[in-house]
Amino acid sequence: MANPVVAIVGRPNVGKSTIFNRVAGERISIVEDTPGVTRDRIYTHCEWLGKKFNMIDTGGIDIGDEPFITQITEQAEIAIDEADVIIFVVSAREGVTDADEKVAKILYKTDKPVFLAVNKVDNPEMRNEIYDFYSLGFGDPMPISGVHGIGIGDLLDKVINAFPENADQEEDQSIKFSFIGRPNVGKSSLVNAMLGENRVIVSNIEGTTRDAIDTKFQTEDGTEYTMIDTAGIRKKGKVYENTEKYSVLRAMQAIDRSDVVCVVLNAEEGIREQDKHVAGYAHEAGRGVIIVVNKWDTLKKNSHSMADFEKAIRQEFQYLSYAPIVFVSAKTHQRLNTLPALIKKVNTNHERRITSSVLNEVILDAIAQNPTPTDNGKRLRIYYATQVSVKPPTFVVFVNDPDLMHFSYERFLENQIRASFDFTGTPVHLIIRRRK
Ligand code: GDP
Ligand code: GDP
Repeated sequence: MANPVVAIVGRPNVGKSTIFNRVAGERISIVEDTPGVTRDRIYTHCEWLGKKFNMIDTGGIDIGDEPFITQITEQAEIAIDEADVIIFVVSAREGVTDADEKVAKILYKTDKPVFLAVNKVDNPEMRNEIYDFYSLGFGDPMPISGVHGIGIGDLLDKVINAFPENADQEEDQSIKFSFIGRPNVGKSSLVNAMLGENRVIVSNIEGTTRDAIDTKFQTEDGTEYTMIDTAGIRKKGKVYENTEKYSVLRAMQAIDRSDVVCVVLNAEEGIREQDKHVAGYAHEAGRGVIIVVNKWDTLKKNSHSMADFEKAIRQEFQYLSYAPIVFVSAKTHQRLNTLPALIKKVNTNHERRITSSVLNEVILDAIAQNPTPTDNGKRLRIYYATQVSVKPPTFVVFVNDPDLMHFSYERFLENQIRASFDFTGTPVHLIIRRRK
């Protein structure tokens, strides 16, 4: 279920994000010749020799206005908290610096495997520069060059060999879900309230070697759920806990492991920009999504309150039009008892399979209702559609010429499919392909 996590740490400018991009295989974060340039992406899925893992560039997590040295030590703490394996990056060009030693000191505290990568070894003559780094105490320094792609393969060989044995735990049949959202919306309160409402069968399932703590519970109808720990919920109070990048990171990790994601909003504060980022990740990941409006108890309500709030949500989260909305209170437990059944329903829809014959009936009806678009006298022809996967339901539509498919017609087809089958709470993907 959970892929191992690799974190990259080191002082600024040693080449962390260059290496991150190199391993990710695409230029997803911006590297420029300016030190400390901000990064877009700090978390990505990777694969090496068939082993899948997730990678974090801790250098991209800035801890507010803290001094430089606090920043890098906090980043090292994050690596220790989040990762199964750590890549400690230093630079051959500058040699061992005080800041490197600070990072090393933090990393001594962990039992997790740490690989020391000496970056900017751009040519064989520079290999002699690596010996000084033995003094950091992490064994053999590995010469690499992020820019030139030298030594990265050897480094990754070591990294994947160090993954914990239990990283691929056996799948259980429970429905996996999580609460995600920006700090303070009430995620941990919701987790605790859910535990109060339901019978906990196995508590505190340790994640791989990380500190993630999942909880398995059962509702009265016998359905089993695994609640994925999101926000480091049970170990609050770290300095970095309330930084946006860190909460995004936690959210993305939780999303990865969930079938259904409950995007939590705070009724008291309304919708914020950061809510949209978080919701966007759940949508992009193709998970089932429920929008949970928490702290409903705090509003002075009238008969329009719910409809008004719902309208605002639909306006701000247009791409989540499929997601059901539920108004709850972790404090009073209002409507919390409805949540498990809703999660179950969304999970069912998320893994729903439609037979090709029934699907094609729907497509034929759709075409009869609303003729396919034309361009320059050429008409789009839809030959056949078939579902190729679940989680989320994904359909391939075979046509004469994909360029003739308009976005609006694709939308129309999706809506027709949604009108015929219950896909509440799940994205539906359509892939338009030319018939060979
Ligand atoms: P970060 O702050 O640790 O993430 O470092 P960056 O990845 O932003 O890199 C800092 C600078 O070092 C940039 O100017 C990079 O182009 C440069 N750099 C990164 N890797 C290498 C390398 O292998 N060789 C050389 N010569 N420069 C590198
Ligand atoms: P997290 O950062 O998203 O995990 O949020 P917390 O669960 O720590 O909650 C943040 C604050 O909101 C705490 O003071 C909670 O007591 C409060 N809170 C959480 N849920 C509710 C709710 O439903 N109603 C009210 N009134 N307060 C809540």
